Amino acid sequence: MFLTNEQLAFRDEVRRFFRDATPPALRSKVKLGRRLTRDELRAWHIILDDRGWVAPAWDPQWGGTGWDPVRLHIFREELQLAFAPAPLTMNINLVGPVLIAFGSDEQKRKFLPGVRRLDYFFCQGFSEPNAGSDLVALSTRAVREGDHYVINGQKTWTTLAHQANWMFALVRTDPLAKKQQGITYLLIDMATPGITVRPIITIDHDHHVNEVFFDDVRVPVANRIGEENRAWTYAKFLLTNERVGGARTGIPKARIRLAKEVAATLLVDGRPLGEQERFRERVAEIEVELKALEVSYMRVLSSLAANAQGQPDPLSSLLKLRGSELMQRTSELLMDMAGMVGLPLVPGLLHADAEHASLLDAWAGNVAQNYFADRATTIFAGSSEIQHNIIAKEVLGL
Ligand SMILES: Cc1cc2nc3c(=O)[nH]c(=O)nc-3n(C[C@H](O)[C@H](O)[C@H](O)COP(=O)(O)OP(=O)(O)OC[C@H]3O[C@@H](n4cnc5c(N)ncnc54)[C@H](O)[C@@H]3O)c2cc1C
Repeated sequence: MFLTNEQLAFRDEVRRFFRDATPPALRSKVKLGRRLTRDELRAWHIILDDRGWVAPAWDPQWGGTGWDPVRLHIFREELQLAFAPAPLTMNINLVGPVLIAFGSDEQKRKFLPGVRRLDYFFCQGFSEPNAGSDLVALSTRAVREGDHYVINGQKTWTTLAHQANWMFALVRTDPLAKKQQGITYLLIDMATPGITVRPIITIDHDHHVNEVFFDDVRVPVANRIGEENRAWTYAKFLLTNERVGGARTGIPKARIRLAKEVAATLLVDGRPLGEQERFRERVAEIEVELKALEVSYMRVLSSLAANAQGQPDPLSSLLKLRGSELMQRTSELLMDMAGMVGLPLVPGLLHADAEHASLLDAWAGNVAQNYFADRATTIFAGSSEIQHNIIAKEVLGL
């Protein structure tokens, strides 16, 4: 990307900030793909918020920066390239922008500062056992009783519900209306009686996601965002932000950088892997696609910025699709490079022999876990098949 002198100066400022302000322990966790604790993430949110940079895309009135799309892109990419932790997406990319666009002033004042500083740690209660791709089929029921809604039903795949103290959720308030017209958006305190969180252990042997059950859970009407039965509009706005956020060009770039660093010393058939044609070709292919994604990303960000109402941009589906594929391709590359030493998840297959010990210590130990975790990137925030459908219909007009 060609940057003006001003943009280059901005990039240097951001780069310096991440170099100096990122606690080394957090940086090395991110580099190895390890999960931060809630306290670590909260400490990082506070560092960023003190600098005014935790939610740069938000309206400046609520703690954002007013940066244009190029600066936003530079900022996000520098954060990822520095292996600095990403702020919690549920807070910063999902619930925050919905509050700003559709919440009352009172709700904004109450929630937004704590959303930025992680006093409120939100999880996303959208998917249900029979409503994933077809989200509009959701059936978790909310019945109005005076100043409260009483909720019964179940959410699933709820990322970090076991750490969250709040949830933003879609619930059905009018079961007789057309499906899109009977949904309401609520903020739910996870400490409310009647909520049960059960872990789901995923293919990477980790606990990221959960089932959440609601049994006569009473939520104040004051916690409703926008109008009753109108939440499908707010949900579409949120899903667009989620898809754009899925195009994380900096992470695949950082992984390519890591792959080159390791390949420079990794000997295969007596020669450094980094000098071998097949490896260089594979890296070049990924780098070309990353560059194309980056340019598309800028186009979508510009059109979102020009459209203050945040109407869904179907091109965000293209970003989600390619971004998630490139996440997977870079974790596959690292997995292939690690070979057998990248299999610590398999009991008894930890190959810390002399030849591979330093490699293993440096990065290979987490390669398999990241590889398996990345399988989910083409499922969450709308599966690849769904993005293909949207692109066919909305972009290509088929
Ligand atoms: C790791 C992880 C974290 C998640 N975190 C959250 C979260 O925090 N909050 C939340 O609400 N949800 C979350 N999800 C849920 C996620 O959004 C859903 O898994 C996703 O929308 C797919 O829904 P589903 O699992 O019900 O699959 P289904 O919708 O049942 O789809 C099954 C398969 O059929 C395909 N398919 C479905 N419909 C069509 C169609 N019309 N055309 C072509 N193919 C189709 C799908 O692509 C998929 O391959 C998470 C999921 C994962 C894996």
